[in-house]
Amino acid sequence: MSTELHGAHDQQWLTRLRTTLTTEFEAQTARLTELTADTGDPGEAHTRAALIAATRQSLAQIADALGRMADGGYGTCARCGTGIPSERLEVLPHARYCVPCQQRQG
Ligand SMILES: [Zn+2]
Repeated sequence: MSTELHGAHDQQWLTRLRTTLTTEFEAQTARLTELTADTGDPGEAHTRAALIAATRQSLAQIADALGRMADGGYGTCARCGTGIPSERLEVLPHARYCVPCQQRQG
């Protein structure tokens, strides 16, 4: 990793969050594999479909965050361009928006 990032977040902090995201991505991928495995129980199908959708969405958000880390756009609100506070990113590493923008989105 030789990309130099400018901004409030230092490289070590980003590396730590990247590890968190990567671990989460792997966990969710494993979960998706389990969920999509056919158990032959039709009674579970509805719950399962909802879980699969949620897991896929989560994977997409994580992949998106990792992509933004790679291109240097990570930690900046995708709507207003304000820096997202580190505390928020530590709680929600895949956050795309700052708190006010997230709330406005509903
Ligand atoms: Zn914003």
